[in-house]
Amino acid sequence: MNDLYRILPQELDALMVELGEPRYRAGQLLRALYHDFPAALVEVRALPAALREKLAAAGYGVGPGDEVRSVVSEDGETTKLLLRLGHDTLIESVLMQYPEPGKHPRSTVCVSSQAGCAMGCIFCATGQMGFERNLKAEEMVAQVVHMARRLKPRSEHVTNVVFMGMGEPLANYGETVRAARLLTDPRAFGLAQRSITISTVGILSGIDRLADQGMQVGLAISLHAPNEELRRRLVPTAGPHSVHDLVSAARRYFKKTGRRVTFEYALIDGLNDSPELARQLAGLLRGSGTHVNLIPVNPTAGGFGRPPRQRVVAFERILREGGVNCTIRAEKGSEISAACGQLRTDEDIARVDFVPLSGAAAAPARGRRQSALGPAPSPAR
Ligand code: SF4
Repeated sequence: MNDLYRILPQELDALMVELGEPRYRAGQLLRALYHDFPAALVEVRALPAALREKLAAAGYGVGPGDEVRSVVSEDGETTKLLLRLGHDTLIESVLMQYPEPGKHPRSTVCVSSQAGCAMGCIFCATGQMGFERNLKAEEMVAQVVHMARRLKPRSEHVTNVVFMGMGEPLANYGETVRAARLLTDPRAFGLAQRSITISTVGILSGIDRLADQGMQVGLAISLHAPNEELRRRLVPTAGPHSVHDLVSAARRYFKKTGRRVTFEYALIDGLNDSPELARQLAGLLRGSGTHVNLIPVNPTAGGFGRPPRQRVVAFERILREGGVNCTIRAEKGSEISAACGQLRTDEDIARVDFVPLSGAAAAPARGRRQSALGPAPSPAR
């Protein structure tokens, strides 16, 4: 099937011409796709039945991804979906909502870009799965559309997208950028480019390509260590000079795009959370114009633990006193395993109160145990 959620607006204009249809049909179809969020072509009632049939006969259809399970956090602000793509690919998406007084909540979707991941970060559930396959752009857009469909009855909408779910987005560059274009095209999903953040654990060529793309998307780099030796322990696929290479790449990205880069630093008890390492990190990043987001991890099956609160705060203080802009990530949905790859790999999956999606709205499932990995990603920065 050629998925209509893959097709950029200008390509859809050309398709309508090719099918002998007036060009305005493309506009009608785009409005239906990105405002009504149909789950099948037959639901696109804005088009005449004859055109729907013509599209179907030409192999076009709508929407990959069946919602397999849904979990909602105790506070109702975090929703995690397990989606089945194709026959047997299971991926996760997370919706994080941040109440704003007098306004609709900020609603951020954390998108997976791959099934599994080849980067092998030792503290990450997805990394321990290994790599399965790259996702298509339409499979990334579908994750956002699934969340938008859920928000619509509440008159809420997706406001931000972070490519921080399963996988390394810049190792799937072409499809990730196509998805970002679909999500930000005013005739398609229509988010501001600045509302999108792409995260990487360090694909240098991808960072430079993205800087040249002429887009205003945010970049987050998962650093996790201030020196090469420690980083290679945490991210075994990292190159020999990855720390300094990444700081240089962040500078280049800022220079080209004007967008401040965020360094993500997963704080792991006893491993990368000492005052000495905080001082090293401050020395590395001082004057770079970047921001550091500290992410205390939760206990994992691999024995990695979250540092005590006072150590997290002390780490942050050293960075700030060292002249580095820094925040501690707000915890979201940790009790429902909101960190990437956690839900899929959870050996206790059957013990979580999952509710079939048909009943989820009426009786949302409540996570009831600690997740093994850290909290859900933060919103776009
Ligand atoms: S942290 Fe990200 S890059 Fe590292 S293994 Fe997990 S999904 Fe892959």
